[in-house]
Amino acid sequence: MKKSEEIATRYGRFVMPTYAQHTALVKGKGTRVWDADGMVYLDFASGISVVNVGHCHPRVVEAIQRQAGELMHSSNLFFNDNQAKLAERLSRLALEGKCFFGNSGAEANEGLIKLARLWGHEQGRYEIITMTNSFHGRTLATAAATGQIKVQKGFDPMPEGFSFAEFNNLESVAMQVGERTVAIMLEAVQGEGGVVVADEAFMKGIRALCDEKGLLMLCDEVQCGMGRTGHWFGFEASGVQPDACSMAKGLGSGFPIGAVVSTPKLSDVFQPGTHASTFGGSPLACAAALATLDVIEEEDLVRRAGVVGKVLRARLAELVSKYEHVTAVRGAGMMLGLVLDQESKPLTGLLADKGLLTLATANNVVRLLPPLNVKDGEIDEAFDILDEALDEWHGGKDVLSATA
Ligand SMILES: *Cc1c(COP(=O)(O)O)cnc(C)c1O
Repeated sequence: MKKSEEIATRYGRFVMPTYAQHTALVKGKGTRVWDADGMVYLDFASGISVVNVGHCHPRVVEAIQRQAGELMHSSNLFFNDNQAKLAERLSRLALEGKCFFGNSGAEANEGLIKLARLWGHEQGRYEIITMTNSFHGRTLATAAATGQIKVQKGFDPMPEGFSFAEFNNLESVAMQVGERTVAIMLEAVQGEGGVVVADEAFMKGIRALCDEKGLLMLCDEVQCGMGRTGHWFGFEASGVQPDACSMAKGLGSGFPIGAVVSTPKLSDVFQPGTHASTFGGSPLACAAALATLDVIEEEDLVRRAGVVGKVLRARLAELVSKYEHVTAVRGAGMMLGLVLDQESKPLTGLLADKGLLTLATANNVVRLLPPLNVKDGEIDEAFDILDEALDEWHGGKDVLSATA
């Protein structure tokens, strides 16, 4: 029996089936990963926009190993220097206020939601407007904030206090504003929603609407942050600044960490006893994040994501002209989506069989999120696999069942 099958069997018996895995990965280096049976893949999913600096970057590995031997955890009942340093660096990169640390994207968004509610509490304002096809996480509150029915189905009653507006439709957002509204929350580039970029006019309009009505603008940067789009944060593309943002995925290169970063206006809304996380911002997690920031800066990866993203996008555009089932390419920087005229899962399965890992999202989109330091040659290699797979794949039901 293949090693991956053996692992799959144990999963079948003992792991709750929340995911449909394809193979077991055992090793990673840069853009490449190896599975338990020795097959090598180019990872253009980056663990879902997590290993933005590539798998097992030596700087990050070294920082984690060193810190693990010093002090892994202290709890937030004590100061830890790494957390202070990381907060300072994130604050200087983004909104110049203060940070709160948790362990995941959902936890960071929970923090944003609680921050907004506490800020609006005395005025009786708590409602947060979010967008259709958004994704904010899988905890109850973040699932309630997520504008996709499939994420909420079966879990009612959902927490109250969220209303939905259409993404990239300012009028639809303005119509949702009421006397209980406290904030508007959105992704500058919707990831799970199908790699849909917020228009500059929409982002600017949201900012203006928030200023006019005294609302908070909250950006979920969990997926589109950390250099992914060719900016440190997705909102920078439109020149607006939110009142607070969340980050996670790419922050720790795979070591779990999430953060809420605020402008000075919201820096002291949370006070002792109002919010907490036992593991949040541990010396070890912050060491991983500090090393990640070092790598992004030293390798100039934010700029590179913009430059190489353009190259990759141009190559993907070739596929749009060449194949009838490929209808568009969209996205920003190295967060790109190839839009198909049908379900994308059969194609991402075929790509994986040929050694290229991508993500099927929003039903008909192939999402590409390579490490920001992907080599030019690896882009060529990935493109050849895409071209070959599309050439073989003519879409339609037959292929669907053949690769299922
Ligand atoms: C992945 C994601 C989340 C949830 O992050 P988790 O770490 O899985 O909890 C939230 N928002 C966005 C935009 C995401 O892409």
